[in-house]
Amino acid sequence: MSEANGLTAKLSNSEAVRQRSGLPTLVGITGGIGSGKSTIAAELAKRGFPVYDTDREAKRIIVLNPAVRSQVETLFGSDVFDGDTYLTHKVAAQVFADPDLLLRLNRIVHPAVKFDLEHWAKDKPLCFVESAILFESGLQELCDKTVYVDAPEELRIARTVARDHSAPEQVRARIQAQNNDARRLADIVINNDGSRTIAELADELISQL
Ligand code: ATP
Repeated sequence: MSEANGLTAKLSNSEAVRQRSGLPTLVGITGGIGSGKSTIAAELAKRGFPVYDTDREAKRIIVLNPAVRSQVETLFGSDVFDGDTYLTHKVAAQVFADPDLLLRLNRIVHPAVKFDLEHWAKDKPLCFVESAILFESGLQELCDKTVYVDAPEELRIARTVARDHSAPEQVRARIQAQNNDARRLADIVINNDGSRTIAELADELISQL
């Protein structure tokens, strides 16, 4: 039995145990660009905890759910799909020209993701969902606890530039466009300022649940 499975089994082997113990089942992880939320989520997955990657699952749903796919096609045209590949750069170009399209896309995709996540999390003893827009998309309504991964802005910019080879001013502009409410709304704040390892941060997160 892995460390995580052992921990999960000890903490909450079933829904009944979970309810008695008051431990959360679904934990939402969010944070700004370059904060390290994917890195912490990957560490939790490595330990055996189920992690729902919202970006990846949203793309899967858009391609494979016929009702969602046809609404996306109506909105953006069928050339945003190449077979079963969703061409996000084509969507991004249209959204850039008309921001209202993003709101309309979100109204199609967010409820479908929420429905999918609810089913995915059902019967799982302790699991995590990672989303940059956890609160904006309404997914936090399904979460028993929410975690905000924080880091100083300059460090987030440096990490993102190193990761994506993007220009610092572009990253700064994206940071400024992001909603800052999540830090205030989250139950737990984890500070990924580089002073502790990712493993230590994952331990801290788990200990605070
Ligand atoms: P985005 O919303 O842009 O996807 P994110 O919050 O998911 O960002 P990550 O991709 O996890 O951020 O981290 C950004 C970059 O910083 C990655 O390349 C990651 O490896 C690196 N990183 C994150 N935390 C640390 C850390 N504590 N020490 C060193 N590098 C880190």
